[in-house]
Amino acid sequence: MHTRTIAELSALLHEGAVSAEELAQALLERIQRLDGDLNAFITVTAEEALAQAREADRRLRSGEATPLTGIPIAHKDIFCTRGVRTSCGSRMLDPFVAPYDATVVERLAAAGAVSLGKTNMDEFAMGSSNETSYYGPVRNPWDPERVPGGSSGGSAAAVAARLVPGATGTDTGGSIRQPAALTGITGLKPTYGRVSRWGMVAFASSLDQAGPMARTAEDCALLLQAMAGFDPRDSTCVDRPVPDYRAALAGEGDLKGLRIGVPREWLEEGLDGKVRACVERALQVYRDLGAEVREVRLPNAHLAVPVYYVLAPAEASSNLARYDGVRYGHRCQDPRDLTDLYKRSRAEGFGPEVKRRIMIGTYVLSAGYYDAYYLKAQQVRRLIAQDFRRAFQEVDLLAGPTSPTTAFRLGERLDDPVTMYLSDIYTIAVNLAGLPGLSHPAGFVDGLPVGLQLVGDYFEEARLLEAAHRFQQATDWHRRVPPGCA
Ligand code: GLN
Repeated sequence: MHTRTIAELSALLHEGAVSAEELAQALLERIQRLDGDLNAFITVTAEEALAQAREADRRLRSGEATPLTGIPIAHKDIFCTRGVRTSCGSRMLDPFVAPYDATVVERLAAAGAVSLGKTNMDEFAMGSSNETSYYGPVRNPWDPERVPGGSSGGSAAAVAARLVPGATGTDTGGSIRQPAALTGITGLKPTYGRVSRWGMVAFASSLDQAGPMARTAEDCALLLQAMAGFDPRDSTCVDRPVPDYRAALAGEGDLKGLRIGVPREWLEEGLDGKVRACVERALQVYRDLGAEVREVRLPNAHLAVPVYYVLAPAEASSNLARYDGVRYGHRCQDPRDLTDLYKRSRAEGFGPEVKRRIMIGTYVLSAGYYDAYYLKAQQVRRLIAQDFRRAFQEVDLLAGPTSPTTAFRLGERLDDPVTMYLSDIYTIAVNLAGLPGLSHPAGFVDGLPVGLQLVGDYFEEARLLEAAHRFQQATDWHRRVPPGCA
């Protein structure tokens, strides 16, 4: 049962071949058996899950079900969940029990999905390896000595290890797509504004976006259908109709007429040779499906990582100012006075990567440096967005590697922040421009999964999902199961 996709499980639930309660029970047992080693979950909400599952069974029997009714999922621990700890991977929020549900949580629950718990993540979503979590690293199901990627590493590992068929993630610079690539699953970062950020702990508000992680594009379509749409509580959420994503995938079909651009800058130095070969084989599959694949240029692509590491820390330093030990979150013992309360609560509550970002962010926003760093970075951000605009005048989608390497070893990049930051060299520009991006399994190198990234124009999620779905109809990389997880 655990190897089935959301679409398959949905059919079984609707036929009555399995009940939501049996399904939740089976996966909860699997989590109990396998997650001690993986560490993909921070909190498992077994009791609440079984209650939700029983309610789902009632809906299934009464004919009020949606395609997600009774489907077990997990939420990245960055989404507020009423009555359940919402830690964001940080000691700062370890004691925080959210008093409300994030919009994404609310919408998936309303569709009948059954949440089994909250998944591990890099602290405040800052990281590319899930090693900055207060709750310890997550292990990659394909090789326990390797990282699952980050920051949505817990969601990625849980889906890859078949603990849940789908999960939520967030992506500020690559945190859905990069872990999806490193664990051999499919993940979609929607257009900025497509999905509400309300109730999602803020990291860099002009970049953060929630999206689905699952094993197939079809399952991502089903999850996105419930997640997407206008929310008056998030002023950056766009009021625009949500297309029928699954309808875009109907039938067998090919990709005749689809123009795919491969940015030359994504295949240059820094890309592992074997990953490159794997990506080129995947591009051939797209050609065989009838797509036209040609080279395009993104001349400012090399500026994306430096621009991001000015803007994201600037926004983070501002967003994280709210954790002061006064209202909620970690508070130090016996503060002498207010300043001591602020200082020690923050010193104790935040880990080293978060502190590094707060210092960089405060620095680039300070008088005298603002023009040189923050303002300049905003100008370059515009140039990066214009590169994409030009590219989309010639082609419908962009394709390339999601990550320059396969999953690296635990500890390997921890003492070298710049190498760690370069893990997102192909994903970050997409957030800076606010575009949708998807990563899907594209093959293996030395037993480790490789992801192919597709990038679309604004609100072209359906086109991304369709292309990935056709690829998955022609290949079986997404069906490979990590050793020990069959
Ligand atoms: N790895 C990047 C960072 O550490 C992106 C993280 C993310 O997308 N949340 O900022």
